[in-house]
Amino acid sequence: LPAGTGRYNLDDFIVGRKNKMAHRAAKACVSSGSELYNPLFFFGSYGLGKTHLLKAIVNETMRNNPSLKCKYISAEDFTNQFVNSTLRKDMNSFRKRFRGVDVLAIDDVHFLASKKGTQEEFLNTFNSIDHADKKIILASDSHPTMIEQFTESLVSRFVSGMVIKMEMPEFETRKKIVEIKASRMGLSISQDVVEYVAQNVSASVRELEGAVKKLSAQHLLLEKKITLSSAQYLISDMVSRVSSAPDAEGIIDTTASFFSVSSSQLRSKAKAKTVSLARSVAMHLLRENTDLSFPEIGGCFGGKNHSTVIQACRKVKKLIDANATVDWKHRGVKRSEKIGSV
Ligand code: ADP
Ligand code: MG
Repeated sequence: LPAGTGRYNLDDFIVGRKNKMAHRAAKACVSSGSELYNPLFFFGSYGLGKTHLLKAIVNETMRNNPSLKCKYISAEDFTNQFVNSTLRKDMNSFRKRFRGVDVLAIDDVHFLASKKGTQEEFLNTFNSIDHADKKIILASDSHPTMIEQFTESLVSRFVSGMVIKMEMPEFETRKKIVEIKASRMGLSISQDVVEYVAQNVSASVRELEGAVKKLSAQHLLLEKKITLSSAQYLISDMVSRVSSAPDAEGIIDTTASFFSVSSSQLRSKAKAKTVSLARSVAMHLLRENTDLSFPEIGGCFGGKNHSTVIQACRKVKKLIDANATVDWKHRGVKRSEKIGSV
């Protein structure tokens, strides 16, 4: 195995509603040619499984095809090797090292943000691999267009393939993760402990895993079953302060049901009056209650651009300032409520 890829594989990646696209794309990447989507770009915050997927893709491709040359490298190592080769004036071996590979996974490419020289070399590497019909898989902490100081040509190469957002799994999947990770560590825990952990550790899968490790260590130490109160004590430092903050999905679902439309209508291009009013209200609520940026909010509604979102938020703000009420009668519903109280 290439250095650092460990034993990651795709079957160990626990799949739920929010990460099934990422998992599916990774599977497809292993089992298909490069024509599918190149590059495959995963982005999302810390501890959500990006490195896991990159390493798993490399491992499984090599297992299926031992003759292929696969490489996993962090953008930081890529940069260091590039700089060293430049200093040694030995660019040829550097280029050969990368351009000879069939599958190249580069992790944490946001690291290249302020490094123009490396970006240029990276683009060269990228182009030569892409022309040779080889695969490139990338991971980053943000969407390629949101990484400042990326050259335009680099961004356009990144978005020319498939860009997939990694998100924190929702409660049901978090439960599954806790259960499976615990059982892999030989730890048996009761349902109330599983739920407590899944409910309260919601910042990243890495932390979820850390919580289970803690419980497991305690279990080994005391040879006693982990009770709910001991679990609460043990992982108190990991409990997210933000766990009660409303999530985007909840806001969209609640707004949709308030306006008696479906969430999928809200996410669609439908232009009916009620739907578009509801959509604007949802955008406003997302802006006020989450950390999402305008482009990210647009992304929640089938890729609306950020100026559409800004306009919608302005419109709703105006309505609220004017104490407007939703004219339900007009839409066949006999009730009248303040928009501001949604
Ligand atoms: P990132 O690269 O996004 O920061 P990692 O890939 O390093 O995150 O994941 C952090 C830890 O969480 C790793 O141990 C990884 O195996 C685990 N992990 C993340 N997502 C999942 C998942 N869906 N199923 C199982 N383990 C996961
Ligand atoms: Mg990582």
